[in-house]
Amino acid sequence: MIALNLINGKWVEGQSKRFAASINPANSEQIGKFVDSDSVDAQIAIEAAKNAFHHGTWAHQPRLRQLVLLDWASRLEQRIEPLAQLLTQENGKVIAQSRGEVLGAISEIRYYAGLARHILGNFFEVEPGVYTSILKEPAGVAGLIIPWNAPIVLLIRALAPAMAAGCTSIIKSAPQTSQITAAVLASLNEVTTLPPGVVNLVSEKGHQAAAALVESNDVDVISFTGSNQTGQRIMAAAAPTMKKLSLELGGKSCCLVFNDVNIIEVATKLVTAAIIISGQQCTAARRILVHESCYEEMKVALTNAVKSVKVGFGQDENMNMGPLIDSIALTRVNTEIERSFDLCDEVLVRGGRLGGEFSRGNFISPSLIAHQDDNAFFCQEEIFGPLIVLESFSDEKHAVAKANNTEYGLSASVWTNDGNRSLRIARALRNGTVWINDHNKLFAEAETGGYRKSGLGRLHGFDALIDFTEIKTIYQNAGVV
Ligand code: NAD
Repeated sequence: MIALNLINGKWVEGQSKRFAASINPANSEQIGKFVDSDSVDAQIAIEAAKNAFHHGTWAHQPRLRQLVLLDWASRLEQRIEPLAQLLTQENGKVIAQSRGEVLGAISEIRYYAGLARHILGNFFEVEPGVYTSILKEPAGVAGLIIPWNAPIVLLIRALAPAMAAGCTSIIKSAPQTSQITAAVLASLNEVTTLPPGVVNLVSEKGHQAAAALVESNDVDVISFTGSNQTGQRIMAAAAPTMKKLSLELGGKSCCLVFNDVNIIEVATKLVTAAIIISGQQCTAARRILVHESCYEEMKVALTNAVKSVKVGFGQDENMNMGPLIDSIALTRVNTEIERSFDLCDEVLVRGGRLGGEFSRGNFISPSLIAHQDDNAFFCQEEIFGPLIVLESFSDEKHAVAKANNTEYGLSASVWTNDGNRSLRIARALRNGTVWINDHNKLFAEAETGGYRKSGLGRLHGFDALIDFTEIKTIYQNAGVV
C-alpha cells in the first residue's frame, strides 16, 4: 500500500520522492509506505487550496457542498468493513471500536451536510432606512493537523465543518495513520462534483509540512488535535500571521462516583472508559474518585474489572484492548506507569508488557493504583495509556475540589442516582464536557472541547462550523420612502 499526497484532485509523490514506512503496531511489520513530505510539498498544497478558494465557486455554493458531503458519506458506507480492518491494522484498536469509528464519521459527515445549507446571518434596521446585515462567510484556507488515535473521526470532525462552511483545506495526516487517512480521502476524491483543490492531503514523517501550514500567510485557520506541547508551539508559531486557531489538546478525565449507585456495574463501565483505544483517547477515564463509604467496595470491583480485560490482537473479536500506537509510546507509557508504581500509596493491579506472540507488538496490560494526594504526577499529567488511579472523597465539595485540581478541563463524569446532585456537580466541574452516569459519549451534534489547557474552540456541533467562518457586517443606508 502506498499512501500518496492529494493535490488539486491528483494523487502525487512528494517533490523529494522520499517515502516513510507504515508499521502495524501489533507485530512491527511494515504494511506500506507514505510520502514523507516537506515544506515545499506543503506550499504546493497551500497554492492549490488558495486557488480553489479564491478562483472557484465552492465558497459560494452551499448546495454543492451539501451534495458532495452526502455523496462522500454514501461511498464510505460501501466500505465500512475494509476501512475498519485497515484502521485496526494501522492503529491497533480493537475491530469493534474501528467499526464504531467509521460509522460515527459517516453520521458526522451527514450532519454537516445539513448544516452547509443553514449558515444563517442577521439583517436589521439600525436607524430609519439604515440597514445592517451580518453574514457568516467561509474563513478561507484551513490547515487540519490530525492525530493518530482516532484518525477517521478526528479527521471528519475538522474537515466536514470546514467543507460545510465553504473553506478549502490542506490535511496533514499523522505519520502513524497515513494509510487510513488516504483511504478515507480516496472516497471523497471519487466524488466527481468535488472541485479540484478544495481538499488536499500531505503526509510526512516529521512535522516540516505541518509547521509550514501554521506559519503560512495564506492559511487562515489551523485546526489541530494533539498534545499540549505541540498545541503551545503551534499557538506561538501562528502569532505572527494572526490566524484563527482551534486547538483540541490533552485531558485528565475524573469520574466522580457517589454511594447511591451499583458499584460493581459502575466499575465495569469505568474500566471500559479507561481502556478505550488502550487508554490513548483524550477523554478516557483516568482518575476515579469515589465516596469514602464505598471506597473498599470500589477497590475490589475495579481490581476484578481490570484483571478481566482481554488484551490482544485488534482483529480478534473477543479482545477488549489492542497495542499502543508505536514503540516510542510503549517505552514512554511503560516508564511512567512503573514510576507511578514506585510513588503511589498502593498498587492494585500491576500491568506490564506482554510476552510470547505479543512481544513483537506494543502491547501492555492495564494497571490500577490507589492514591490520596491528587498533586502526584500521575494525577496531574496525561499518561496516554492504560493506567487508572483510584482516590476517595468525603463530600461533594471535596470531590469537586479534587477533580478541579488540574490544569486540564476536557471532560469528566458524575455517577449518582440523585438528579439534583448530578446537576450541581456537573455545573461545578471546570470541563468542556460532563457525562452523567456514562463516559466517552460523543456526538456529531454536541460541541466538545477544553477549558483551560485542554484547548481553544470547539469541535462537533454548530460551533465547530463557526470556527471556520468569518463574520462580516455589511452596512447600507437605503433611506425611507
Ligand atoms: P502530537 O502533538 O505529538 O502530534 C500531533 C500532530 O502534530 C502530528 O501530525 C505531528 O506531525 C504534528 N506536529 C508535531 N510538531 C508540530 C509543530 N511544531 N507544528 C505543527 N505540527 C506539529 O500529538 P499525539 O501524541 O500524536 O496525540 C496525542 C495527544 O492528542 C494527546 O495529548 C491527546 O489528549 C490529544 N488529543 C486530544 C483530543 C481532543 O479532542 N482534545 C483528541 C485526540 C487526541
